[in-house]
Parts: sequence; structure tokens; C-alpha cells
Amino acid sequence: MSRVLRVLLLGCSGLALVFGLFWMQHGSLPLSDKFAAQGGPVSDDEGFIEALAPQIVEYEVQPGDTLEAIAQQFGIPLEALVGSNAQALDDLHGVEPGTVLKIVKNGVLHAVKRGQTLTDIARTYGVSLTEIVWANRLEDREHIYPGEEFFIPGARVSPVFTYLQMAGGKKSFFAWPVRGVLSSGFGPRVHPISGEPDFHQGIDIEIPEGTDVYASCAGRVIVAGRHSGYGLYIVIEHSNGYRTLYGHLSEVGVYRGQFVEGGQVIGRSGNTGNSTGPHLHFEILQYGRPLNPLALLPP
Ligand SMILES: [Zn+2]
Repeated sequence: MSRVLRVLLLGCSGLALVFGLFWMQHGSLPLSDKFAAQGGPVSDDEGFIEALAPQIVEYEVQPGDTLEAIAQQFGIPLEALVGSNAQALDDLHGVEPGTVLKIVKNGVLHAVKRGQTLTDIARTYGVSLTEIVWANRLEDREHIYPGEEFFIPGARVSPVFTYLQMAGGKKSFFAWPVRGVLSSGFGPRVHPISGEPDFHQGIDIEIPEGTDVYASCAGRVIVAGRHSGYGLYIVIEHSNGYRTLYGHLSEVGVYRGQFVEGGQVIGRSGNTGNSTGPHLHFEILQYGRPLNPLALLPP
């Protein structure tokens, strides 16, 4: 079977193409050139940079290809393949022939979202900021732009992959924060503790204590703390006036002000606050008004 494989970018020179304009705007030089210009130690640092440098090739999807088969063919994790091609892929179950995918070894490519900093990105992938700066030969780490792509060296987890999985395989605005049995729906009910009439502002999903909880959509953490009713809880602000709330957690893994990706682990489920058993209480609000999450979440 003939495969169309185009080797475009190899090694360090690849990023020079991708980020050349950025460097020119900011007057940066590749670090090795700078060291050379200063007569500094070149060889050791070059070795270090080489180890972090991305290897990127492009592959045009052929009829009959699956994402799993492509990942296997190039010897990279499926998660990394999906993560590096977040813009081109919107369905885990299929990919259109003719789509050009980036095959990235030893890491993933990340496209910056509005409001996201390099520190946020480093936290999302569990990679050090220094490694991202070195791998992308960045001098000006303060000015990054939405849509700009960075290589995340050594990244294994991809929130993009988890996000698509939790959305049932297809892109959607909100993905499930956990998967479990729905134990209480949205709307009027008798409160399980007080026995009084009550309006349930979210849904309850029964899950064992300590289950990973994922951000339902990308956004900025505006609350990461404790509440008498919600217990340990997190609120994330998204676009279009949306907020999501995650209650009764056992652990909070993010801080106020942090930008998180959809599908990123933000904490662990628990039974804290006004709760009758281990579950996640999940709310979606728009401009402060609680909405029925089941109407907005994928099946
Ligand atoms: Zn609840």
C-alpha cells in the first residue's frame, strides 16, 4: 500500500521555520548561536537543546486509515497524535482522507488559547517551564499569542484526547467532568439532608472517592477553595458567560487564576461539604443562571 509521507521538518531546523517570524519580531537568536556569539559553551547546551528539539513530519491521511493505525505506524502514542492535531481533528472515531496530520515525536504540539500563559501550559502538561522555553528557543516568554504553536517536550498526557473521550469522541463545547451514574438531576427536589423542598442547581454523578475530575471546557479558574455546602470546590470561567462548578471534592489540583484546558485533571472527587456520599456535584451557569447540564453535555 502506498503511503504519502512528506518529511518537511526535521530536528531543530523545523522550529526555526515555524517560529522564525516570532523570533524576528522579538530579535531573538537561537540559543546556540547566542552562546557561539558570546564565545560561551556551545557543545553541552547544544546537546541539551538537541534532546529537547521536536521532530515533526507531516502525513496525509489515506482512505481506510484510522488514527490508531497512524499512531502505530509512526510509533507514537494515540494521545500525542490527537494532542498535536487538535485543530485538524474533531472526531476520535474517524479522520477524513486528505487531512494533513503533524506527526510529532517525543512530545506534542500545543496551540495557545486566548488568556493562556506558558506557565499555564507547563502545568497542563506537567512539564517544566524551562524545558518549554529551551525546546522552543524562546527569549520572550511573556508575549505569546493565541493560535501560536509550541512544542511540549516529553509530554505524554494530552488533555485534548481526554476532552474528546469525555465528549463521546466528538468535539462539543462541554465534555463530561467524570463518567458515572447520575444520582440526582437538575431542578426541584426534596433536599436529601434537610428533607425540605429544594432546587438542585446542578447534577450529581456517583463515583468512587478519589476519581479524577476533568475541566468540562477550557477556561480560567476563578474559585479553588472551600464552601460550607459545596465542600472543596472549583469554579471555572469559560467564554460566552459560562461557568462550571465542581463540588464535594477531596482534592483541588488548580489555583485561582490558572488557565486550564478542557480534559485537564483539576482535582479528585470526594464527599466534602453538605454531601450524603461520594459523588461529584456539577453545575453549568450562564451569566449566573444555572442551566440543566444534561441539556448541554454530549450523550
Ligand atoms: Zn448536587
